[in-house]
Amino acid sequence: MDVTVEKKLQDLWKLQQIDNKLDTLRAVLGELPMEVSDLEDDIAGLETRVAHIQQEISLYNAEISSKKNAIKDFQRAIEKYDDQLNNIKNSREYEAIDKEKEIAGLEILSAEKKIRDFSKQIEGKQEVLDLTQASLDRRKADLEFKQAELSEIEKENEEEITKLKKERETALKRVDERLSRAYHRIRENMKNSVAVAPIVRGSCGGCFSKIPPQRHSDIRAHIKITDCEHCGRILVDQTISGISAFDEIKEDKPTRRKMRLTTAK
Ligand SMILES: [Zn+2]
Repeated sequence: MDVTVEKKLQDLWKLQQIDNKLDTLRAVLGELPMEVSDLEDDIAGLETRVAHIQQEISLYNAEISSKKNAIKDFQRAIEKYDDQLNNIKNSREYEAIDKEKEIAGLEILSAEKKIRDFSKQIEGKQEVLDLTQASLDRRKADLEFKQAELSEIEKENEEEITKLKKERETALKRVDERLSRAYHRIRENMKNSVAVAPIVRGSCGGCFSKIPPQRHSDIRAHIKITDCEHCGRILVDQTISGISAFDEIKEDKPTRRKMRLTTAK
């Protein structure tokens, strides 16, 4: 006995429903791993930057402590010069030592100025470091969250995908080979991988173009498998799809947010 057109359409619609679910699950996984790897790249870049700034700061700090040591040395020299000056009778010798003392004083001033300059540099670097570190911390928290989400979805999806694949096998067996080929060919050609579209408010649920009344009533009569004149999708009427004129047509691309809402039952 020949399978009726109505039965064929029902089987095709069923297959499409399963594929829709599989596509959704795969799409969800598709973008998350990319987001995770983008974040990992960001973090690696920021960590390099943080390390670089920290190194610059420690170089400035090393310069500062070397200048501080130099100042101490000059101060000790000045004390020594003062002692010498107190015990000198000869004016030429006095002038020579006094000159040394003056030079040491100038060296101290110059070292102090350097220390102020370096401290200012450090302040600037520290500001950049704080901002970079904050942005690094944010991304790390983001990554942790996304990784947890990813592994959770992967786990959930694994079970769901295995289950759906089995359902798909069963559903596909009911569809004859010629129709199955057509189904897969149309699916491949469609951006949203939808080969069987419901009629919604007299329009093709795939491309939204209006279906001529005659064609519409032919489809309703289940006389033969009919495709959309515009996009080539196989059309099914309300009795097959169960989608009434008041139902919203599903968006092409499922988002993760939606996905999470549907799985968070
Ligand atoms: Zn269409």
